[in-house]
Amino acid sequence: MLSIILDALTAGRATERTPGQGTPGTRYQLVAPGALQEAIDICPSRAITVDGPDTAVLDEGRCVACGLCAEGPGAAFRAVPGDLGVSRARADLRRRFSLAGAPAPARAPDHAADDAGRLAEEGTRLAETVRRRLARSLHIRHLDAGGCNGCDWELNQLTSPVYDVQRFGCDFVASPRHADLLLVTGVVTANLELALVRTLDAMPRPRLVLAVGACAISGGIFGTSEASRGGADRVVAVDAYVAGCPPRPWAIIQGIRALLAP
Ligand code: SF4
Ligand code: SF4
Repeated sequence: MLSIILDALTAGRATERTPGQGTPGTRYQLVAPGALQEAIDICPSRAITVDGPDTAVLDEGRCVACGLCAEGPGAAFRAVPGDLGVSRARADLRRRFSLAGAPAPARAPDHAADDAGRLAEEGTRLAETVRRRLARSLHIRHLDAGGCNGCDWELNQLTSPVYDVQRFGCDFVASPRHADLLLVTGVVTANLELALVRTLDAMPRPRLVLAVGACAISGGIFGTSEASRGGADRVVAVDAYVAGCPPRPWAIIQGIRALLAP
């Protein structure tokens, strides 16, 4: 027993400090517009598109950070330090790059346009109410709608001593009846679609929905198919998004805090 106490005293504090703005993540920057077509062709999650003749779009809500578009000296993109890719608006995850002066690539299909603006009004209204009424306490129900569990591993870290999300007034609950926030990871599989809807229905109002990871935002590498509905906002209203595959634990915490920010 004495040795346990001594170990605890000498181990020091494991919990990290709250990260400020500018906590580093990784983002992809367009550096060689002439190689854009190759990047469009090689991207496995169809995250790179063009918008008209002068703009390339990299959708961080689809990007799985495989790095293929940044491989080799002539690659179109380069991985650079950036922020954590947290946003209240889906459109903000679609990063735009000017192609002025570069040869225009063939127009790729805009896979992202169909989910723009989906149910945004309800999410905004609910977010306002939660900020007013739940500013000091947030109970979270996690639902894995069908991903690879990579996001869930990162999510598990939130209650570890290192990240200690309870210090922000947040905690995870087993029942949706007790939850204020539904945190969705994974692509919405056909088998889990009804569970997602019913989980949200079981939550008292006001309530929020946070989509964590490329799968929950857009379907990610899995896209849409007979077995996959794609991103969570194709099924329920989503209030904020945390990009990544998987996102870092700090990005998830920032996403939760972004929901409660004034
Ligand atoms: S890093 Fe992202 S944008 Fe680049 S190829 Fe991979 S998924 Fe596509
Ligand atoms: S976003 Fe990436 S890590 Fe998360 S469930 Fe999908 S494939 Fe797995």
